[in-house]
Amino acid sequence: MGDFKFFLTGCLFLCGLFNYSYAISPVFEDNDSISFFELDDIDAHRDFVATKQFIDSIDIYSNPACELYNYSWTSERLNPYRIKIDSLPDSVFIDCTDFVYPLQSNRITSNFGMRRYRYHYGIDLGVKVGDTIRATFGGKVRIVDYERKGYGHYVVIRHNNGLETVYAHLSEVLVDINQTVTAGDIIALGGNTGHSTGPHLHYEIRFLGNAFNPTKLIDFGTKHLRKKEYYITRKDTYSHSQELKALAQARYHKVKPGDNLSKIARRYGVTVKQLCRLNKISTNTILRVGRKIRYR
Ligand SMILES: [Zn+2]
Repeated sequence: MGDFKFFLTGCLFLCGLFNYSYAISPVFEDNDSISFFELDDIDAHRDFVATKQFIDSIDIYSNPACELYNYSWTSERLNPYRIKIDSLPDSVFIDCTDFVYPLQSNRITSNFGMRRYRYHYGIDLGVKVGDTIRATFGGKVRIVDYERKGYGHYVVIRHNNGLETVYAHLSEVLVDINQTVTAGDIIALGGNTGHSTGPHLHYEIRFLGNAFNPTKLIDFGTKHLRKKEYYITRKDTYSHSQELKALAQARYHKVKPGDNLSKIARRYGVTVKQLCRLNKISTNTILRVGRKIRYR
């Protein structure tokens, strides 16, 4: 593809420079999204810009799983797709044959799922700073970024099989945006950057922007896949969707001086038992002022 692009760039650029009297016909007549170039009476600079647009327009078709992702390719956001779990296609085949386990460690330090006030969309694995981190499947790097209060240094890869993976809290990133990777390529070094209380890899698997529990696919105990041919289904892969819906509706009360569980329960029309269950506390728990208590 690289050679082909270089050849096209050269051809079109030279045509623009030396050929002012001929118009160049559209190259792909059956595709509206590819621009039509007329190179007579425009200068070489504009030819070059047009050529670059032409090359970019080819590029979107070379991105992994481009049809599935509606040709969207951006480094701006982790989930730019705005597709709800309920709207995901059901029973999508994912070819996982090129899988490589992403690191040395298989020590899970935190699981996918509910945390006190938010959802943990990945799985945390203990690392030593500087441990090699590898691409789980082949694909192309979509995001390399840094979030001081969140992921720290992190990488997002779109894979050829339609999945996307996230690798966060890295000490060093060894790939660039738009770089093509093969499963098992070293992409980064493990670390403790961003919102992290000890060296670990935060690892996510997403499909059309929606994270699912990586243990659905990977057996971290053995570092192998559960299935090489995986089918994504809303019922099984996204069995946590009810939890997410409940979390989206969650409401909190900030504890003030003089508050107690009965008082809070009365105020919101719930029972003390419900408050205890929602907040994983007992009736004897001392309510620190400023603590958030979930009542719905
Ligand atoms: Zn995490």
